[in-house]
Amino acid sequence: MSTTPLLLTRADLDRMIEILSERGYHVVGPTVRKQEHIISYGEISSTDDLPIGIGDEQEAARYRLVERGDGRLFGYVLTDTSPISFLLPSEAVVWSGKKSDNGFETAEMAAPPRLAFIGTRPCELAAVAIQDKVFLGNGHQDPTYAQRRAGTFFVSVDCTEPGGTCFCDSMGTGPGADGGFDIGLIEVLEGDDHYFVARSGSDEGAAVLSEVGGTPADDGRVAKAAAMVEAAAGEMGRTLDTEGLKEILAGSLDDPIWKELAGKCLTCANCTMVCPTCFCAAVENRTNLDATEAERVRRWDSCFNFEFSYIHGGPLRPSAAARYRQWMTHKLSSWVDQFGMLGCVGCGRCITWCPVGIDITANAAAIRARMEEKAHV
Ligand code: SF4
Ligand code: SF4
Repeated sequence: MSTTPLLLTRADLDRMIEILSERGYHVVGPTVRKQEHIISYGEISSTDDLPIGIGDEQEAARYRLVERGDGRLFGYVLTDTSPISFLLPSEAVVWSGKKSDNGFETAEMAAPPRLAFIGTRPCELAAVAIQDKVFLGNGHQDPTYAQRRAGTFFVSVDCTEPGGTCFCDSMGTGPGADGGFDIGLIEVLEGDDHYFVARSGSDEGAAVLSEVGGTPADDGRVAKAAAMVEAAAGEMGRTLDTEGLKEILAGSLDDPIWKELAGKCLTCANCTMVCPTCFCAAVENRTNLDATEAERVRRWDSCFNFEFSYIHGGPLRPSAAARYRQWMTHKLSSWVDQFGMLGCVGCGRCITWCPVGIDITANAAAIRARMEEKAHV
């Protein structure tokens, strides 16, 4: 594995995309979806497909694309959904079969494409590590996730301009990536000087980088890039104090504050659809009309759905407050018991995409204050 940083140009990145395609990867990166006014992951074939000079402003319940007036390729904050939507598709056939002369035949499942992600943010790599623990750890392997994850290649880009809803620094997941990437990049644009400081993080990454070429990075440019990432840690739009939070939340379950905090919640499930660490799914069996073909499909579900906790007689969590409490206490408290880590990487998507601007950081602070107040009464 190469540890010497390289300097790459935009032309080198184009070459990297070509090399990854030649190696059999479907290359996916941030693209502007003009109709929806959004930057989202999609298939790309060159750097022309990236959001050149386009940024995004993100705040609670607010997302806007903006013209940056420069040529940065990765000058936006974060896409709407994350690479997890490719590794855990919103709908996946996990089994299918059809009637035959000999009875019933199980269909051969097509192998999923090998994916190379360009522009993965450090918080997204941290979310993949969490999903690895959920789907590959604890002695169980989920075949749908494992198959997709096995062939994945990540070209990450560290953050130098965090957004209004970002708090990865609080969660220890950014703004720079410590690992989890095959190739790690930092983009720098100063006047006409536009370059990428690149390092490899795996043998495959080193092999791709050596094919790309590039030039050895001088100390000045490496230091400049590192300083930009370091400065970004102090420019987060939000913070979240995680000290003792697991216990504070676990002790708050009966507090009436949950009713106040979830008062505006529409139980629309947006927060769970965009969250890179949410993984809940429902399984459906489907047949065609003449019952000759059948399939079992796994599709995303959400703890905000009324039916999610339904058992005979009714749902365990009938109110919005109960469902919001479940979601938040799982992310920031009981996840630790289950997986030994917090279930939030501080990407801020749930804040941006909540239509009524419910903010996990503000609510964690409010619960902390309430519980501290109670303790002193
Ligand atoms: S809970 Fe919110 S901030 Fe945390 S990982 Fe999920 S979407 Fe991102
Ligand atoms: S917290 Fe916001 S995004 Fe999540 S279910 Fe409630 S209204 Fe929807």
